[in-house]
Order: sequence, then structure tokens, then C-alpha cells
Amino acid sequence: MDGSFEVVIIGGGPAGLSAGIYATRSRLNALLVEKMFLGGQIANAEVVENYPGFPDGISGAELGSLMANQAQRWGLQTAIAEVQRLELNGAGRSVLTTEGRFDAKTVIVAGGTEHRKLGVPGEDQYLGKGVSYCAMCDGAFFRDQPVAVVGGGNVALYDALFLARFASKVIVIHRRDQLRATKILQERAFEQAKIEFLWDTVVDSVEGDGKVGGLALRDVRTGSRSDLAVAGVFVAVGLRPNTGFCEGLLDLTPEGFVKVNANMETGVPGIYAAGDIRSGSPRQVVCAVGDGAIAAISAENYLAALV
Ligand code: NAP
Repeated sequence: MDGSFEVVIIGGGPAGLSAGIYATRSRLNALLVEKMFLGGQIANAEVVENYPGFPDGISGAELGSLMANQAQRWGLQTAIAEVQRLELNGAGRSVLTTEGRFDAKTVIVAGGTEHRKLGVPGEDQYLGKGVSYCAMCDGAFFRDQPVAVVGGGNVALYDALFLARFASKVIVIHRRDQLRATKILQERAFEQAKIEFLWDTVVDSVEGDGKVGGLALRDVRTGSRSDLAVAGVFVAVGLRPNTGFCEGLLDLTPEGFVKVNANMETGVPGIYAAGDIRSGSPRQVVCAVGDGAIAAISAENYLAALV
């Protein structure tokens, strides 16, 4: 690794790994920079049931690991480092990281998203003491205890279904009376006797004494307040993009997603965005890998036009 590449890919989830597979098979000198581990957030999914080719489903961790193996088999170089800044550097681009600087002719931004917080009192205080953003990681700590899940999307229902295996009761707290989650998950959750729903309800604060003991709730229709005793709360209220390192350089939506066209081109030549981080993404693994392929093909075309 000499610090200078034809393509630097930021992010080691499905979009970044797919871009890596396409770039290396085009014989481009490519480096992927990832801050944690290859595979991305999909590792937190107990099972992925909608990725074509796996009719019985596959664990998220295994799918991510297979993608990483495939990319590395084709020669994708990888670095574990956190990207701090993406900069223009004459005709090239520089990726500044905690492990040093990587220069590149093209960059594919595929840094994904992180969990959104509720932003209520007690949430940070009780992180790891009953507040969690990962049911797969922490669910088993709550065997035979009541827990809450906040949110009404796919992640909330996957979390609730997973937690129902351990917890005595799972209360899904949703701010509306209609779930956002896909119908098949709704059907499963409604059938699971341990899962209850609190509709039109928001969390005002997380309460406890050293660890989570309950939640202060508010009915958004009537304004009436109530307390719910739970040992744990799993927050699943959506995602926010990891785009802090490219603020000021790339055009972002008000929510912080990178604006791209159908070729995954940002407004800056030679810089592409792919996967959950880009505007308009349906945030599905199958879409992320498609984005990664498109971004790598666009980068290859850009490099070909330089010579
Ligand atoms: P999501 O689909 O954006 O849902 C977030 C949920 O949290 C919504 O129900 C939202 O309510 C609620 N919410 C947002 N802010 C809130 C707040 N401040 N207080 C209370 N509730 C709040 O997010 P997600 O479930 O994390 O999923 C993220 C993405 O990954 C989605 O695009 C999803 O489709 C995708 N995904 C797909 C699968 C799959 O199997 N296909 C699996 C997992 C994730 P409202 O409904 O009222 O907005």
C-alpha cells in the first residue's frame, strides 16, 4: 500500500464491497477504508430474507463476510481507519484518516448510516445500562424481563421478534397508529403473543436508578402521560448518514444524504456515493450492492477518460 490509488472506497458495507469487487475485477488499484469491520451494519441482522440467491435466508454476518471474502479474493486492499476529511487535491482527491492520508484519482463514498437517537433525557445516561440500539447484540441480557422497542419500521419489528425469544414481554412504542414496516413483518409481529403495541405514543424520558427501570410516555393525541416499567429499551427510530467528513465538499440533502445522479456521480467529478448514504436510497442490501457496482463502473469510465 503506497498511499496512492486509482480508487479509494470509504465504507466496508455491501455498497463498498460491491464497488471493490467491480473495481478490482477492472484491474484498478483500489483501497477500501473501513472504521470497524468489513461487512457493515448488515452484521446486526439475524437473518436477511430478501437477498436473492438465498431462498432460506442467510445471517447478516455471514452475508457480509462472504462479500468481504469475495472482494479480497479479487485483490481489494483494505485499511481499518476512520475517515476524518475528504479533500480535493489538484486533479486528485485526498482521504484523510486516523491512520494517515490516502491519495486517489477517484473516491466512492459508501460510509452508510448510523442509528438515530431519540434525543430524550436518560437515553445517553443509560446507554449500555438498559438502553441499546442493537437487539442482536444485547437482547439476551433481558431474559424473562419486559423490554420496549421504540419505532415502527422494519428494524423495530425485526428487533421485537428477536427480543420475544428472550424477554417476558416486548412492548413496541410507535408514534403513529400505522406501522412503516413491511407487511410480512407486521403479520409476524401481530401473531407473536409476547409482543404488544402502544400506538400514538412517544417516550419523554428514560428513567432508572443506575440502570433502566422504566419509561415516561406521552399519548400524542390526548397529551396524557404514563409510566411503563421495563428493564431495557431498544431504540429503532431510523438512520442518519455518516457524511460529516464530506460536509462543505459534497452537495448534501437537508438530512445529510449525498446527492447523486443515476450514475452515482456527486457534483464533484471523480467522487461517487453509493448505498444507504446516498439520497433516495431504498436502504436495502440488494440496492446497495447495485449502487456500488454502478459507482465503480462510473469511476472506471472517468479514469479511462483521463488517459
Ligand atoms: P425507518 O424505516 O426510517 O423507520 C423509523 C421508524 O421510527 C418509523 O416508524 C418512524 O416513525 C419512527 N421514528 C422516527 N423518528 C422517531 C422519533 N423521534 N420518535 C419516535 N419514533 C420515531 O428506519 P429503520 O426501521 O431503522 O429502517 C432503516 C432502513 O433500513 C429502512 O429504509 C428500512 O426499509 C431498511 N431496512 C430494510 C429491511 C428489510 O428487510 N428489507 C430490514 C431492516 C431495515 P414514522 O413511521 O411515523 O415516520
